[in-house]
Amino acid sequence: MSIDADLRARAAKVIPGGMYGHLNAALHGDTYPQFFVRGEGARQWDADGREYIDLMCSWGPMIVGHRNPVVEAAAAAQQAQGDCLNGPGPIMVELAELLVDLIPAADWAMFSKNGTDATTQALMVARAATGRAKVLVAHGAYHGADPWCTPGLSGVTASQRADNVEFEYNDLAAVEAAAAAHDGDVAAILVTPFKHDSFEDQAPAEAGFARGVRALADRIGAALVIDEVRAGWRLDLRGSWEAFGVRPDLSAWSKAMANGHPIAAVTGVDALRGPAQTLYSTGSFWFSASAMAAAKATIEILRDGDGVALMERAGERLRSGLAAQAAAHGFQVSQTGPAQIPWLSFAGDDTLAQGIAWAAACLAEGVYLHPWHNWFLSTAHTDDEIDQALLRTDAAFAKLRKESGAA
Ligand code: PMP
Repeated sequence: MSIDADLRARAAKVIPGGMYGHLNAALHGDTYPQFFVRGEGARQWDADGREYIDLMCSWGPMIVGHRNPVVEAAAAAQQAQGDCLNGPGPIMVELAELLVDLIPAADWAMFSKNGTDATTQALMVARAATGRAKVLVAHGAYHGADPWCTPGLSGVTASQRADNVEFEYNDLAAVEAAAAAHDGDVAAILVTPFKHDSFEDQAPAEAGFARGVRALADRIGAALVIDEVRAGWRLDLRGSWEAFGVRPDLSAWSKAMANGHPIAAVTGVDALRGPAQTLYSTGSFWFSASAMAAAKATIEILRDGDGVALMERAGERLRSGLAAQAAAHGFQVSQTGPAQIPWLSFAGDDTLAQGIAWAAACLAEGVYLHPWHNWFLSTAHTDDEIDQALLRTDAAFAKLRKESGAA
């Protein structure tokens, strides 16, 4: 029995379902390992010692390479002094100053642990500011796993969802109609920087949509909240909609903020400082200093080393390599999303069967990517790592072609 299989058998006895949540390997494909023991740069090793070129970056958090020495040194130095103390360390102020310096729409920052903390807290600020209940959210968008937003409805009551009003992403008329239907009671419009729903091709935000939701929020006196949890730190360190000239009132950040160390943030504009101050919103570990030290180090590396451009370059290299391979092997694929947060699907593959088979073949070749969730690149994805990955994805396409009975 493999070590992974043994751990799964033991887990089945002591962990509900053997595993839960987004890292439940059963959701990803039959051959995906559940347990991992090590990461280094752009690589990860599973419990049985198999090495993978990692194109998932732990579902986003890893952005400057697993065990980045600068980030780890900053976190370890803080850890050696104390992490969870009777009050936050000076690092909390330094980190908030860094975010306020970097992000034009940030005049203040509050910290927590997970993306769900940040999206939930941002909506609390919007509701505190407006005294209103409703939040306009895109149908199918993921904003976290609390009762108000989890895609699974088990354990959730209807009243916990009653204030979500849905619209279709990029459909400004639908947002306006949703706002009109709840005239006077809309606290916030909550959007992701691009459409990155699971199981389907990704789509960029249209400029008219981005500018339109900004104008609508202003018109109705609601907060525009951008959920940067997935896209944040990979597209534009100033905020993902800077290129549109659109600045939110509130942003929720997490995932890649501290290269795998647990931290999230809400940043907001001056006008919402007062309402933010009125919240009782806290957690035992929200003020821990070492994750804040890791966040400061991570963001400085990205800022000083032009990290976004590095990730974009890696993504373009991967994308053009995959496009050439797919064509050479006779597959029609679509590659969507920003290059640094990519995804690949096969034309006409409605059941995703082909995508699942190709991802499994990539896994067998030693490339960890995902059949129905977008992938993530990091600054550790050097040209050499991408080229190594492409050798393996080519073998996976070849295997798929052979299995499909093509010549
Ligand atoms: N918002 C978005 C856009 C996300 O992608 C995620 C996580 N996948 C979340 C919120 C929730 O973050 P967390 O899992 O850290 O609570």
